[in-house]
Formats: sequence, structure tokens, C-alpha cells
Amino acid sequence: MKFSQEFIEQVQDANNLVDIISQYTQLKQSGSGLMGRCPFPDHKEKTPSFSVSEAKQVYHCFGCQKSGNIFTFLNQYQGMSFPQSMEYLADRAGITLPKDTQDFDDKNALKKKEILKLNKAALSFFNLNLERSLKDSLVRQYIIKRGLSEETIKLFRLGWTLPEWETLASHLRSSGYSLDLAEEARLVKRKTKESGFYDIFRERLIFPITNSMGDVLAFGGRILAQGEPKYLNSPETQVFQKGKIFYGLEQTARYIRSEDQIIIVEGYMDLISLFQSGIRNVVATMGTALTSDHGRVIKRLTRNVVVLFDGDRAGREAAERSLSLLLEQDLYPRGLILPDSMDPDDFVKSKGVEELNRLIDRSPDLMNLIFMEWLIGFGGEPSEKIKIANKLKRVLDVIPDFQYRKLYVEQLAPLMGVEKNWLRDTVLSKAASLSVSSVSSSQSPLQSLSQVTKKNGSTPAPVSNSVPKILNSEAVYQVKSASKVEKHLLSLIIKSRANFEYFFAQNLGQFLVNPHMKKLFNFIDQAYRQSPEKFDRLTSLLITQIDDPSVLFYRTPLENQQVKRASQAKQSEVSEADSGWESVDANDTAVIGGSGEVEPSNSDDQRSLELETKFFNDVVKRVKEDFFKERLKTISHELKVGATPEKLEEMREIQKSLKDLKDSKESAEKI
Ligand SMILES: [Zn+2]
Repeated sequence: MKFSQEFIEQVQDANNLVDIISQYTQLKQSGSGLMGRCPFPDHKEKTPSFSVSEAKQVYHCFGCQKSGNIFTFLNQYQGMSFPQSMEYLADRAGITLPKDTQDFDDKNALKKKEILKLNKAALSFFNLNLERSLKDSLVRQYIIKRGLSEETIKLFRLGWTLPEWETLASHLRSSGYSLDLAEEARLVKRKTKESGFYDIFRERLIFPITNSMGDVLAFGGRILAQGEPKYLNSPETQVFQKGKIFYGLEQTARYIRSEDQIIIVEGYMDLISLFQSGIRNVVATMGTALTSDHGRVIKRLTRNVVVLFDGDRAGREAAERSLSLLLEQDLYPRGLILPDSMDPDDFVKSKGVEELNRLIDRSPDLMNLIFMEWLIGFGGEPSEKIKIANKLKRVLDVIPDFQYRKLYVEQLAPLMGVEKNWLRDTVLSKAASLSVSSVSSSQSPLQSLSQVTKKNGSTPAPVSNSVPKILNSEAVYQVKSASKVEKHLLSLIIKSRANFEYFFAQNLGQFLVNPHMKKLFNFIDQAYRQSPEKFDRLTSLLITQIDDPSVLFYRTPLENQQVKRASQAKQSEVSEADSGWESVDANDTAVIGGSGEVEPSNSDDQRSLELETKFFNDVVKRVKEDFFKERLKTISHELKVGATPEKLEEMREIQKSLKDLKDSKESAEKI
């Protein structure tokens, strides 16, 4: 399980944090860094304050103060342990794990890995079939009929299986894969009368079902010739549990984050059709009912849910079933039942995407929608009222937020012709509700997530939302207790190599007062000396070592000014950014340092540099001042106990130093 430092760095170098984070939120260039909306579920924001530095491979949110590197991100966001993230990143970059690190997994996990590998190979084969298909083939005709672009086919990695019975089986065999394993992956089936295996998916357009990290978990196939069933899905396997997976999330998660809304549809083609027509914050349930696991997946991304149901009877029933599930997770569900029993694909084709967007925007609260369905044929009889009240109670009981429940009662009572008080007494039993809410709110989304991704039944370390939990070890340096000025000093030397070298050349570490800071600066010094060319990597390293990484991202007064000015400028111009970031707040340009140097924006480069240098010098002076004052206190205390000439001399020297510092403050700031 231990990885060498070289190997960790090799894996880190081969992956770009920007690519990983871009899967979950849209990042845009802003000054010397990238900005986007915070991808973390507990921080909802309309304007981007999440900053990523490609040079330093770190992120920091100026809103919720989360910061980290590629490993902390995978830990915080996906609940991966350090070995899991190493494995994921190595695989992503095509790097083979060292042999002795591979056996830490039990057999089960190894089997899962093998199935994923086999699925990946099968998908490549299906992709190739589609690429090689002729213009007048069944699959090409279907693609034209459904209007699928090449770009869409590539993005969703669609494939094609040939009509013959053993093409995949023989391909896998000749590539050295075990067909027994392929049977476990539910790709082939053993023949009953003779030896050998045959393919399960034949003459079907293939939709790979992936997780958000791009692993191929299973397949869905739509038959194109005559035959049944129309859609064939892989049954559940060791790597695929329907109730936990949404189709399309790999491609759409970042749009869901940036729109702060998720649209749930039923089928592959519904999703792809909506995506291609520009509605991209969509997932599909693959024909199953929503589960609580689905609810937790959603909660990681957004709380605003629109469920798009087919207009048929099954669709209406599905709407009712999903209501409790979504409310239980403290989500805000809205619902849309499409007219004339149309599915989303039909609807977009016949009425256009604008019309669908309009309906989505105006879609009613799911609770109200269902309630209206209940009222169909309602005659106002007391027995009917009781019946509806009972149904309502069952739904309301799962809502964690009591205020939310009360609001529904207020709203719905007049619709069923009863007094609000009566309905309140009938449906709002506090005892029942308390138990539910305590269950669902005691779990943070990240905790639920880590429970989903936990392996081998071991309990994952709890993930804190406010302070990043550092991989698998505790933070080593407790800098929280240090003074503000020492924290500023830390951020300044990490930001600029010039500051950094000056600090250590002058041996300024001796003036630090906080013992933890002192130790931390020693550590930094050593880490830097080992490989000075990796100055940029220091930030990423420190994030994992200190209890409050946000200290590393303190802004200087100049940066604060620049941020403010940029925000004012942006507000005065009407910005029609392509991704809909119309309103921009002060955080927009607050990027974290680009390449280890302060990067002034334009013509007053020189002036900016002077201001930054002045600030650094001021901070250094303040640190020294604090040190001398602290020392002075100690000495005066000691003098009270017993004066010695040495102590008196030291006191005079400290007083002199303090005076010098004060004088130099008024004179020009020249190092
Ligand atoms: Zn945030």
C-alpha cells in the first residue's frame, strides 16, 4: 500500500487537476488562473469563487475556504482513500502500479478491477464496430434518423454489436480475456448444448453505462432489427448496481453543477437527445425507479431537481414514487409530465427545445403536481379528505425540514376544502417526523458519498465539510493559533519565489513566535531544499500538512483592490458570457497565484510590484515587532524575579531593535 515519493510525483505529474475538476464544474480563465462555481455540494453559489491554479495544481474556494490538491479533491469529492486515488490517477494516465502495491486489495476488489478492464476492452470493440460500419448499414441509418452527430457519438462513446452470435466472444478470447469472466460481466453466455459462449448483445446500438470517473460499469443496447426486448440492459454485476448509477453523469455532472439544477429523464435516448439540443444538465435512470442512493448522488450536485416524466400511466406512477424519495433527501423537486404521452425525445423533435425549456422553467413543485393528481375526481366527501390526508402524511413525514412541511399544509388545505388547523393536526405528527429528520440530516452528503464508494465494508474516515480532511493522516502543523501577521507571511512566501528566497536567506524564521509556525517554516525550508525547481509544488504539499490551508491563499491588499475594481468594471458592462455567468461578484478575479510570482494585470506592472514588495516588507516588520514585544514581555517578567546585567543588556537591545523597526517604517522601504 505504500507508494514511493517518486511514484506519487510521477502519477501527480501525469494528471492535471484542471481536467479532474472540470468534470464537476465549468472553469474559465480569469487573470492568471481559472475560476468556476464551487463544485462542493455544501457550498451553493451563483457567482464563481472557486479558483484553480494549473501551475501549482491546487484549488481554493474564496467562498467556503476549501482548498486542496488533486488527492484532497478526490478524497473530499469522491470519498476516495489515498490508495484509491493513486490507483485511479495512475490508471487514468496509463501508468502501471508497482507490483507490491497491488495486493492490498482483497479478491473481491481484484475481481471488480478485472471486470472493469474487460468492459473497457469490450467497449473499444463495440466502438470499432460502429466506426467501421458502412453508410447504408442498419446502425448508420438509425443514427441518421435520430439525428445523432459524430460529436455526440464520440462523447457518449456509443458502439455497435454485429448480428453474428460470437463476434465479441471470439474477440475477447483472441485478446487473451477469460470468457468465464466475460460471463460474470454479463457480456457472453455459456452455450447449453455445446461448449463455448455466445454474445448477449447482438445487432444493438450500445450505450456504455459509466460512473462519473469514466469506468465502464455495464451496457445498454437498443435493438435495431426486429426483435425483443427493444432495450437490453446488463443485469446487475459486481461492478454495476442500477439503483446507484445514473446514465450520463460522466458527461453531464459539470453542467448540473453550473446550472445548479438536475433534470431526470428515463432513457438513454432521452438524455442524449436533450444533451444534443443544448439541455445538458440531465441524467437518466435507465428505466428503474429512483432510489435513496440516487437521491444522495443528486444531493452532491444540486438540490434543484426537475423530474421529466413520460405522459403515460407508468410515468405518472413513477412521479408519485419519486416524490418521497427526493423530499427525504432534502431536495427541491419539481415535476413535468409531458403532454400527449410524449417522451422528451419526441417532444424536442416535434415542439422544439425552446418550448421544452419554457416548460421546464415553469414546471410546478412536484408535491403540488402530485396533489393535483390526487384531487382528480375529488368530490369533497369526508372519507375522501381523510384518504388524501393520509397519503399526504406519508409524504410529509419524510421531509427533514419542519418549516417546509408546515408550508405545504398551509398551501394544500384550501385546495382540499379543509381548515389549515385540522390538516396540520392530522398530518404533522412531530414524533414521527423527528426520527426521520434526525436520520437524514445527520449525514453530510460527503459522508453518504464516501459510504457509497467505500470498499470492502470498511468504515470510511468521516469527511469534514469545513476543514479539508487530509488524505489518511491528521494535519501535522496546527497553524490556526498563529497570529494573522504570521499567517500573512506564510501566504506571501508561498506565493512568490522572490519572497521565499529572501525570507530564508535572511533567516527570518527566527522571528516567528508561534511554535507551530516555526516548525512549519523549518519543514518548508527542508522540502524546498530537496528540490528547489519544484517551488510551485510546495503549495500542494503544504495543503496536506496544515490544519487550515486557507491561510495559504490570503490576499494582499493590492489583490483585494484588484478584485474589487474588476468586479465594479464587470458590473458596469453587460456581460453575456456563454455559460450564463451574468452576475459577477467580487470573487470573480480572485485567482490564486499563477506561476509562483505575483502577476500584475497591466501597464502599472511596476507600481503593482512595488506595492506588493512594500506589503511583504511591512509584514516582515510586523512579524519582527511581534517577536521583540513578546521577548520583551518575557524579559521584564524575568527581571522582576531577579535582575542580572545580561538580562538588562538584552532588554536594552530589544528596545533598540524595536525603535529601529519603528524608524525604518517611516523611511523608504528598500531591502
Ligand atoms: Zn466553495
